[in-house]
Amino acid sequence: MERTTLGDFELTILSDGNYYLDGGAMFGVVPKVLWEKRITPDEHNNIRMGLNSLLIRTGRHNVLVETGIGSKLSEKSQAIYRNQAMLIKNFESAAISPEEIDVVINTHLHFDHCGWNTYYKDGKPVATFPRAIYYAQEGELEHAHEQHERDRVSYMTDNYDPLIKSGQMKLLKGDAEVVPGVSVKVYPGHTRDLQAVIIRSGGKVAAYPSDLLSDTKHLDPTWVLGYDLYPLESINNKHRFYEAAIPQEWLVIFTHDHELPWAYIDIGEKGRPVARAIRQK
Ligand SMILES: [Zn+2]
Repeated sequence: MERTTLGDFELTILSDGNYYLDGGAMFGVVPKVLWEKRITPDEHNNIRMGLNSLLIRTGRHNVLVETGIGSKLSEKSQAIYRNQAMLIKNFESAAISPEEIDVVINTHLHFDHCGWNTYYKDGKPVATFPRAIYYAQEGELEHAHEQHERDRVSYMTDNYDPLIKSGQMKLLKGDAEVVPGVSVKVYPGHTRDLQAVIIRSGGKVAAYPSDLLSDTKHLDPTWVLGYDLYPLESINNKHRFYEAAIPQEWLVIFTHDHELPWAYIDIGEKGRPVARAIRQK
């Protein structure tokens, strides 16, 4: 667990543990001889990924960004992803309970971003955060329901449909302020309606760009995920994100980096974006 402050807010990284994804799927058209210099795949070509949720304590609200993979995967899927479902255990070390969460934000509805939205109680999906209002983009839910053959494996209806039915999940149409100081901004590319979370307090800014910039191995604008539905838009939106994040020194939180959950971004010697760890500041 890592913690820092941003103006009047307190930010805490809460991990759901690690999981493994195919290296080729994560790096798309980037040749393996290049990406394996940054991360070493195992004998099945899988690479280790993190599952970083962000807890924002604003003083008035406790906001949770992303809920990891969760505990509802089938045995077969668990054997593939080797995930650990640790998020709720890690709540204890942060001295917070699921009942204290006021707001949950899902950047998109892929299974590895909203898994702890619900858990199975007597075989039925119930809200893990009983008092929270959950937020997702309307267009993202529409796409999830479409069950397109390209990416239907990434969507598990038990992560969101029960919350829609109960009225606990609210749908946003584009950019919005969710609570004072915490807003969402849409950056299409990974999915049509992927939303980043932007946090502002005391003149400081932090951002959770989710799969627009999943980890520090993907800082180059053209190194986009093979999973992305609109890779050209991912590239353009990474540039758009950097145009604000670099000069304004945003603290960037990486959803899938298992080593460095947050960092500032600088332009390095070769003119490429590089991560600067928070403690070096
Ligand atoms: Zn995703």
